Amino acid sequence: MSEFDYDLFVIGAGSGGVRAGRMSSSFGARVGMCEDMRVGGTCVMRGCVPKKLLVYGSSFHDEIEDARAYGWSVDPSTVRLDWAHMIDKKDVELERLEGIYHTLLGNAGVELINGRGRLIDAHTVDVDGKTVTAERILIATGGWPSMPDIPGIEHVITSNEALDLKELPRRMIIVGAGYIAVEFAGVFSGVGVEVTEIIRAPNILRGFDEDVRDHLRQEMTKRGVNILSDTTIDGIEKSADGYTLTLGDGSTLETDLVMYATGRSPKTSDLGLENLGIELDRKSAIVVNEHYQTNVANIYALGDVTDRVNLTPVAIAEGMALAHSLYNNNPRIMDYEFIPSAVFSHPPIGSVGLTEEQARERSDIDVYVSRFKPMKHTLSGRDEQALMKLIVEQETDRVIGLHLVGPDSPEMAQGFAVAMKAGATKAHFDSTVGIHPTAAEELVTMREKTR
Ligand code: NDP
Repeated sequence: MSEFDYDLFVIGAGSGGVRAGRMSSSFGARVGMCEDMRVGGTCVMRGCVPKKLLVYGSSFHDEIEDARAYGWSVDPSTVRLDWAHMIDKKDVELERLEGIYHTLLGNAGVELINGRGRLIDAHTVDVDGKTVTAERILIATGGWPSMPDIPGIEHVITSNEALDLKELPRRMIIVGAGYIAVEFAGVFSGVGVEVTEIIRAPNILRGFDEDVRDHLRQEMTKRGVNILSDTTIDGIEKSADGYTLTLGDGSTLETDLVMYATGRSPKTSDLGLENLGIELDRKSAIVVNEHYQTNVANIYALGDVTDRVNLTPVAIAEGMALAHSLYNNNPRIMDYEFIPSAVFSHPPIGSVGLTEEQARERSDIDVYVSRFKPMKHTLSGRDEQALMKLIVEQETDRVIGLHLVGPDSPEMAQGFAVAMKAGATKAHFDSTVGIHPTAAEELVTMREKTR
């Protein structure tokens, strides 16, 4: 009989923690887990899932306009959105998913304790007054929105509250230029809110391919999002009918609601990490080796709390690798190359591999770029362009970067990611027969180098 209550105790029931816990349990480990918010974590409760539902919900206005252009009769004066209805439906779906998570954990034999976990020593966790012991402990507490400390910051909301808004403002300011800011700008402008996005840099989506950044910015602007670049905010005050923002140049802006999407920080405070001297980096993320081990050998961490590749499927894959390594006698080291990702902006982005700028630093490359009007809009008349881009390493002919902006880009990127992971060359792309008529066929018919 083990001297501990559990073989593995997981702090945090989000994507990474749940997967690691369930798999470990299925391999025979005795697993306990604690969570002080809703089971499912950021992705399911406050991120990817509710966001994507609202992205769908916010796209119908354009669909209705396009339908009219195709000949459907829809009386524009009767087209109205019941926002509260959409939020209620989304909440019902989240409850359903939370139930599924509870069932999955229960069926896997994971014991779930409701409460906040704090480390007491290397084998002991306090969960709101209840003490549990474990041979190994996994920290999978994720991240939380972070905001600059400026006067009036208490007036703003984050993506957490934006997903639960009871009613829509007329005007809204979104601060930030990352994934969350551009996705929410699309959602709210799609449902008719006048959106201004304030970014401190010259352009949105730092780290993405430059052509993608420019292209999405143009498309967002065409859809009515007002992007103010090189702009900082000194303070926010409550005004008679909303908020007044004082900008860095001394000018002011009025709005009804302010949302900050200025990044997320690893959730490492008040976890008792300092009691054990667990090493954190300068952003307070837990430092781990390739086996997700902290500097205290029996304590592990994965997912956003380690601030490496902050994506749900990465946390899930890390959780799988850890469970296999620890409890299935099948040591696994995760491969972080060619991780595809998407931004569910309007229009969305799908991206795999290196940007042109990264690729140029690594080797000599050929670049293929295509911009075209999606076929659907030849009849709808909508002023929208899609972008497709391939980056090919000259020496190996391998496709090392693929970037798409336009309808269905995330769906396309997922498929092409398999080919790229398998080492597909430009010659493989060229010898693949296209599916006609699709947008994706463009990627297998790019013959002329752009540069
Ligand atoms: P990001 O790290 O993507 O972007 C943060 C943004 O905030 C940047 O544009 C940054 O500007 C800006 N910023 C930071 N500090 C300030 C400040 N003091 N004043 C003004 N602007 C500031 O963070 P997000 O919050 O958008 O997303 C967090 C993470 O969540 C992402 O990294 C991503 O991994 C994940 N995510 C993934 C999604 C997906 O896969 N579709 C969707 C949503 C989130 P600058 O560029 O100038 O530094």
